[in-house]
Formats: sequence, structure tokens, C-alpha cells
Amino acid sequence: MEPTFFCDAMLGGLSRWLRAAGYDAAYEYGIDDGVLVARAHRDGRILLSSDGGIFERTLVRDGLVRSLFVPRAMGTAAELRFVLGSFSLPLRDPRCMTCGGALSLVPKEEVRGEAPPRTFERVEAFYRCGRCGKLLWYGTHWQRIARVLTGAVNGAEP
Ligand SMILES: [Zn+2]
Repeated sequence: MEPTFFCDAMLGGLSRWLRAAGYDAAYEYGIDDGVLVARAHRDGRILLSSDGGIFERTLVRDGLVRSLFVPRAMGTAAELRFVLGSFSLPLRDPRCMTCGGALSLVPKEEVRGEAPPRTFERVEAFYRCGRCGKLLWYGTHWQRIARVLTGAVNGAEP
């Protein structure tokens, strides 16, 4: 089973990129360190943090919560490369970048009237997030994301 993550309050950008790389990464804006550690423990998520203090908390220090210190100020693409490299993780099928839910293909006819008309005309494959219900498709924005993801696993600078 692939690992799941909980990003600290400073790593919101990283959480989105981990989801794009296919990993369920939780993030809550402004979350308190104590709550963060308790949630990671409850859900069996690996804690990712750039805050040295959080590693002194009992659950983390004693190894009951798996954790990884992410060096500060690397930039999000470098953070992603660091995390994937640390756990030797491959790129997987993308998850919803908004919430980390799994995506499933939906028949095109089902999204007529929901997708923007011009998008509906030119895109064949639409996906829906099983968690938040968001409709997604791979457009030009995604191609840029995919290039950064590929660079992240191959060690190239984005
Ligand atoms: Zn979602």
C-alpha cells in the first residue's frame, strides 16, 4: 500500500504536488502542531515538516508517528523530489490536487453542461474526484505539472 502523508502548516504547496504525483497528502491551513501530530497518528500518515520543534513531540520522537524533516526554503519542486527520493517512491496516477482523493474516469456524456463548453469540445477524458466531487481533465496546465513531476523523479532541475 502506498504511504499517505500529513504536511505541516508551512508545506501547503508540497501537499498539492504530492497529490499530483499520486499520493494522498493531507494539509490544513493554520493547523496546530499538536493537532497535526494527533491526526497523523490516528490516520497512520507520515508527518512532513520543516519545523524542528514538532520532532520533539512524544509521538514523533518515539517513532509512533513516522516523520520526515523537509529542509526549509528548497522550493516546492525540490521538496517533492526530496520526499519522493527519501522513500524511493515512483510517480503514480494523479490524485485530486485539491483534496487528495482518488480520480476515476467519467463517461464524457455525463459532464455535458458541467464542463465549460469549449473544454467539452476538445477534451475526451474527464475524471471525477471520489472525495470532493471535483471534475478534472488534463489540459495545458497539467502538461506543465507533468514536466515538473517527471523532473522530480529523474533528478532534473525543474
Ligand atoms: Zn478532491
